[in-house]
Amino acid sequence: MQCGFIQNLFDILSSNSYNDFMTKIINVIKGTKDILPQDIENWHRLEETALKVFTKYGYKEIRTPIFEATELFARGVGDTTDIVNKEMYTFEKSDRSLTLRPENTAGVVRSFIENGMSRLSAPVKLWYKGPMFRYERPQAGRQRQFHQVGIEMFGIKQPAADAEAILLAVNYLKALGLNDLEVEINSLGCPKCREAYKQKIKEVLKPEFDNLCEDCRNRYEKNPLRLLDCKVESCQEIFNKPEIKKVILSDFICEECAQHFKELKTYLDRLNIKYVENKLLVRGLDYYNRTVFEIKSNNLGSQNAVCGGGRYDSLVRNLGGEDTPAVGWAMGMERLNSLLPKIEPKPLDGFIVSNSPADAFELAEELRSEGKCVEFDLANKKFTKQLEKASKVSKYAIILGEDEIKNNTVSVKNLETSTQVTVSRTEILNELK
Ligand code: ATP
Ligand code: MG
Repeated sequence: MQCGFIQNLFDILSSNSYNDFMTKIINVIKGTKDILPQDIENWHRLEETALKVFTKYGYKEIRTPIFEATELFARGVGDTTDIVNKEMYTFEKSDRSLTLRPENTAGVVRSFIENGMSRLSAPVKLWYKGPMFRYERPQAGRQRQFHQVGIEMFGIKQPAADAEAILLAVNYLKALGLNDLEVEINSLGCPKCREAYKQKIKEVLKPEFDNLCEDCRNRYEKNPLRLLDCKVESCQEIFNKPEIKKVILSDFICEECAQHFKELKTYLDRLNIKYVENKLLVRGLDYYNRTVFEIKSNNLGSQNAVCGGGRYDSLVRNLGGEDTPAVGWAMGMERLNSLLPKIEPKPLDGFIVSNSPADAFELAEELRSEGKCVEFDLANKKFTKQLEKASKVSKYAIILGEDEIKNNTVSVKNLETSTQVTVSRTEILNELK
């Protein structure tokens, strides 16, 4: 395939369309987006708030590679999931199959095992942020490269850990000013009690098998729980038939799992976290057991989930580590961003207006060393042009004309009130407040 590509490239380079080829604009890839300077303040807010809030709860940031061995996701995310079956960006290099990470839990677990973190005293609390890649149909709130911020906590099986994970998600959202969100919780039980439930679901759906959508028919054997979150209308109609609905909504979890779920709810009540129980919440990934949860917004249209997570007690072992209970979640940062009001870029503290670039440089460096954000005209345009520019980027013009340079002073003009004062170089900081 590569030879074909190179041949094509060669044809283009040697043909008349060479000029067209060399000057053609190259666009961003479908499903990916630039985050432009005028929008970056919101992203800084999302990232800085994450660091601040998660640090308070003892979480440390971890940064794992953006690509990993394909097998990590096949085993870690699960080979019955859409992510692994349809959505991975996989490529070969030196006879190895590599994949751009579609999510970060598998990578964090790999690193946890590889770096012997199970020897640290529990809990081990980690958080991450960064780009993820899924080959999905791009639409509002759904991209092929998108960003997630998330946490993982290892080593605690008690429901207090699940409660802290949910509390942390809610408090992160609150710190961003997002209060109008709904927390949905469910318990998927343990592999033992879930097995019986899976069998019952299969049994009751058997007569309807041929009427299910293709995805559901494919999942019927391997992962029947996933059928429950199928969005296809004809499938929903089947699930809503009384005799089927009864089985779907039945209480299937064993006593121990029920106790775990009950304790989690007691914690959430004590912490004043409002939630609704949703028995149809099964989540898209294979590794969850017991607690699963999602946080949804009513202001996001159809892609309304901002956060998804849950407990995954068998993943560390499945990936070759010691038996280690764990719980975590991930939030979509593009979706969070679309709920935030736009934060405007901060104006400069001052713009130096001068026709002596060397003096302007010197003053700018003095002010920058005091923590001020200042600029001056590197092109040394006319004074009036510089004043015009100053009024666009700052409240203050810091004027360094011939007189000022001679007398070791500066004039500070407030461009909103048009008042101007001349002060000594040492007093300038007071004027910029
Ligand atoms: P969804 O149901 O929206 O596809 P999911 O169950 O695939 O979500 P997770 O894998 O749990 O989601 O990811 C957690 C969060 O990451 C989601 O709640 C969402 O906010 C965000 N997210 C997932 N996929 C995308 C995407 N393709 N583009 C943008 N955000 C995404
Ligand atoms: Mg998805």
